[in-house]
Amino acid sequence: MLGARMRDPIRVLKTRWARTLSDWVRFGRSLGPLVAELRERDTWDPERLRTWQTDRVRALLRHAYDNVPFYRRRFESVGFHPDDFSDLADLSRIPPLTKKDIRECAEEIFARGVERWRLKKGRTGGSTGEPTAFYRPSSEVAWHVASIRRCEEMLGIRPGDVMVRVGGVAYAATWQKRLYGLWESRVLGVHGLTCDYLDDDRLIKYIDTIADIEARVVGGYPSAMYLLATKMLEIGRRLPSVQIVWTSSEMLQPFQRERIREAFGVEAFDTYGAGDVPVASECAAHNGLHLFQSARLIEVVKEDGTSARPGEVGQVLVTSFYNWDWPYIRYDLGDLVEVSPPGPCVCGIRLPKVSRVLGRTGDYLVSPDGRRATVANLTLIFGPVARQVRAYQFFQEDPASVEIRLVPGYGYDSTTETFITDCVRSVLGEACRITVRTMQDIPTTPAGKRLLVVSKVPQQDRPEASGPSRGVSCP
Ligand SMILES: [Zn+2]
Repeated sequence: MLGARMRDPIRVLKTRWARTLSDWVRFGRSLGPLVAELRERDTWDPERLRTWQTDRVRALLRHAYDNVPFYRRRFESVGFHPDDFSDLADLSRIPPLTKKDIRECAEEIFARGVERWRLKKGRTGGSTGEPTAFYRPSSEVAWHVASIRRCEEMLGIRPGDVMVRVGGVAYAATWQKRLYGLWESRVLGVHGLTCDYLDDDRLIKYIDTIADIEARVVGGYPSAMYLLATKMLEIGRRLPSVQIVWTSSEMLQPFQRERIREAFGVEAFDTYGAGDVPVASECAAHNGLHLFQSARLIEVVKEDGTSARPGEVGQVLVTSFYNWDWPYIRYDLGDLVEVSPPGPCVCGIRLPKVSRVLGRTGDYLVSPDGRRATVANLTLIFGPVARQVRAYQFFQEDPASVEIRLVPGYGYDSTTETFITDCVRSVLGEACRITVRTMQDIPTTPAGKRLLVVSKVPQQDRPEASGPSRGVSCP
């Protein structure tokens, strides 16, 4: 135990060396200076940050108008010209970029003359049940990786820390991804434990693994971390090496936070990301999440298009400063957040805060043999078929069966269907009957929300999911 609390100098050196090497291979440079730049911008006063962002946005709007057919058309359709732009508030005249826009107009978002083969294609299964594909130059990916490292710094994670990530499965992963996974675990000390499903055996095995490797950092979906914490308490196990716990991808609910605190003896850091990009994170104050405004513009706007004020809820729109090849301007992440009052934070970071992220509540599908499948993992199945599936929803009436509701997209065929059912079967096991139903559109709730999971399974048959609110609600 003492060994876990002391830092192994060889491992620290190895991690630093491995990071530098991987930075040079991937980006042709070290990312240390980028992280340092972010660290500095995090302490700028709000006025300075706003001026810096305004300059970046002005240049991006001009570029998009001149070189990107989609934005030229869009700006003209609302009578907007880049010369009209003087303040960030002027952005409200430009409609947000939606997932539907990307699905229908992805080709027109490429800037003229861009060498497409240089761009990295990313796909996300979508927290709102709408898979999306996007394109990034390596310069933007470098800033994303730097943002992740800056976020880790904020949480108190140090190079050389042994980390465990209780996360989803990489469905249809490329060999490069698999190789990187090996590199992460063998060299960087970052171990992935999959939570596509969690039953009692797996939970106990994972607790043993975390103890064996003396992990200092453990993180993952709140729904999975909650099951892990519950099992620890049930069997009376403590994990004293763990000093930092973080959660991501779903809303961390108070009952989950409490259970994690009880089992691990530390306060969880709630973080909020989109795909693999960190958007906001709690700091040591655990009083709201700082929005990572230092590498992009993040707006929180109400339905009427105006900025949400403190205490108000709005949708999150992201504008990237580092992707001029396939620019996304005011991209709607599909999540809702509540804005915090302005003012300094005890951690010293000046970035604005949101008090909570709404709309990504974790839930589970269950199987007759006791498996509990986290929804955040199920969304990953749809990343590789982002073009073929426009929208989806899981419907479960009893543990013995699951209906996958799909809105077919471009090129949807029996291969797509087999891929999806095979993935879901690998999660829920053979004892659960899986059927697919294609439909024109996914029905929404009376409040207009599209649910990722509709479960009619009685509460007592899935007690681990019990909490103050039920169901997965996505705006
Ligand atoms: Zn803070």
